Amino acid sequence: MRIAPYMAWAASALIVLGALSNEPAHVRLGTPEVLRLEELTQSQVDGFDRQKTIFFLTFGNLEEHGPHLPVGTDYFRVEEIRDRLIARLRAAHPDYRFVVFPTVPLGEGGANDAAGQPDHIGTFAVRFETLRNVAIDLGGTIARKGFQNIFIIEGHGAPLHNVAFNQAAKFISERYGVSMVNITGLAKSSNVAGEDILDAHLGKNWRQRSGFEGHAGAEETSELLATGGARFANPVYKNLPPFYVEGLSGFLRTYEKQGWEGYWGDPASSSKALGEALLSRRTDVEFQIAEKALSGQDLSQLTPYPDNVPAMAGADVFVKNSLERYERQQAEIGAWLARHPWPAKK
Ligand SMILES: [Zn+2]
Repeated sequence: MRIAPYMAWAASALIVLGALSNEPAHVRLGTPEVLRLEELTQSQVDGFDRQKTIFFLTFGNLEEHGPHLPVGTDYFRVEEIRDRLIARLRAAHPDYRFVVFPTVPLGEGGANDAAGQPDHIGTFAVRFETLRNVAIDLGGTIARKGFQNIFIIEGHGAPLHNVAFNQAAKFISERYGVSMVNITGLAKSSNVAGEDILDAHLGKNWRQRSGFEGHAGAEETSELLATGGARFANPVYKNLPPFYVEGLSGFLRTYEKQGWEGYWGDPASSSKALGEALLSRRTDVEFQIAEKALSGQDLSQLTPYPDNVPAMAGADVFVKNSLERYERQQAEIGAWLARHPWPAKK
């Protein structure tokens, strides 16, 4: 979703992101400054400066992305952006250490919800509360060890998905006196969507052709092409017709339309160059937010996504439907647990 710049990459150990020489510098994970948490011993972790270590909690949700992009599209994009961001931060703060938590493959909701298909074959999501609790628990276990900086990087536009991280970050920051920041949520309140970049690459009339861009259309397909996940894009995207809806309100009423195949906008006009420009804009904006956080600025002045989106009837219904679905699921789980207590009552 456009309100919803999504993001992602399935990293494997010691692989340098983007091997092409004309690409911007990426970090090499598994070096003394940029570490994968799962490769460290407890003594190494204990040796880290509590003030000058940044933990990255990356969330790469699995979601349908049309007939042409992998369900891990956001996963690839979010890891790509995270690693570009770390490269920038590392240059600016050579005295810091960057610890990358394994990417959590969880997210709330899917763009398919707007098409009235919450159980879409391509989307593997968890409930709002589950996601918020995971973020709180992971942030808490880092904060209780005394580490002061925790950055959340995510790439999915569902409103509740973002609320979960905004709330988790605020709670952990207040409870433990650390700085846990949803970098992506705050970045989405700026012009991270990059409509000027779309104008430059697609021509100013892309809105007439594409309508709503932002999920598996030109914007996101292009971004995937500029990540290590490009090899999973099905070239069929070059022949897909545009799927047109009018803006965000049109997107939210997709359930009224025929012929929806999992994408919005115009995948056929995608290019790696457009993706590169969009990813680099997102990295710029996230870098600025991260710098503010590290310099101790008061980030409560910034309004995170989705609170920055003007009120819209369709958006309220979208969120309400999701919350009601989760309530029903929770009631079902609660009823089952009441019938099957553990330990079993004698
Ligand atoms: Zn996506």
